[in-house]
Amino acid sequence: NEVIFEIKNLQTYFPIYEGFIKKKKVADVKAVDNVSFTVKRGETLGIVGESGCGKTTLGKSIMMLQKPTGGEARFNMNGEMKDIRKFSKEELFKFKKQVQMVFQDPYSSLNPMKTIYDAFDEPLKAHGYTSKEEREQIMIDRLKTVNLQSEYIYRYPHEFSGGQRQRICIARALCVEPQVVVLDEPVSALDVSIQAQVLNLMQDIQKQFNLTYIFIAHDLSVVEYISDRIIVMYLGNIVEISKAEGLYKNPLHPYTQALLSAIPIPVVGADKNRIVLEGDVPSPINKPSGCAFHTRCKKAMDICKTQTPVIKNIDSEHMVACHLY
Ligand code: SF4
Repeated sequence: NEVIFEIKNLQTYFPIYEGFIKKKKVADVKAVDNVSFTVKRGETLGIVGESGCGKTTLGKSIMMLQKPTGGEARFNMNGEMKDIRKFSKEELFKFKKQVQMVFQDPYSSLNPMKTIYDAFDEPLKAHGYTSKEEREQIMIDRLKTVNLQSEYIYRYPHEFSGGQRQRICIARALCVEPQVVVLDEPVSALDVSIQAQVLNLMQDIQKQFNLTYIFIAHDLSVVEYISDRIIVMYLGNIVEISKAEGLYKNPLHPYTQALLSAIPIPVVGADKNRIVLEGDVPSPINKPSGCAFHTRCKKAMDICKTQTPVIKNIDSEHMVACHLY
């Protein structure tokens, strides 16, 4: 498949200052630290890790909602790979239309004071849809896409359930005909019974509109359900990249193995040994030396404390950053 995003050594650091009058930089929070990967057109790329691993910052960085502080992020703009950090104003405008985001919390994503009509009308106007009739037709069509009735456009967010609100947010993202949708924990705030419905709907929409999804989540079982390939992140770094099937059948990184072992198996008596991760995630301000996971890794060796493992290809579809390989 054609590459739509090409990310190389991307960094998003947040400086920390000391002092009120004379500010002095004392450290950086390395939220995204030298991350490299590609996204292919039409795929669903899952990004997983515990909270604070940098996955949301990564999603925002490749959308330019948070400006990266180093490295490269190229986007396929009509067949030409262009560095998003060097976009002209006009290119950035086009890019922002082509890449949309759906956030975790459908309750705070919609302004309670505005009708669904207003929530849809603003981005449509901002992206140059000047005809009122056209905008209204798009709103009605997109509500239909997410199986909601057209008359809902005049209602307020509080009149909808959590699942309906998230469908409205998905419909709003689709209004401006994006190519890529970044979904940041899109079903985490929903009841488990509703999660599968929304995930199935998203899969149908992906086929219908030939969309590329970047699906960010902390829950590996949700990511497994929807993703073609998966990136596992720990403390701002990618520790493993694989096709979804390969990751579940043969997780290589000890961190991935621990995350996978935490997924409950719904079969009584199933043979599964849970790997308990001890300790908290270390601070991204003061990352452990060598392999950042060594403070919690049961397989850590001496080399792990001093040398940072580089990400290596195990086969053409599977990469891991660990000294065991
Ligand atoms: Fe564990 Fe060492 Fe591999 Fe890090 S590099 S995951 S500490 S074995």
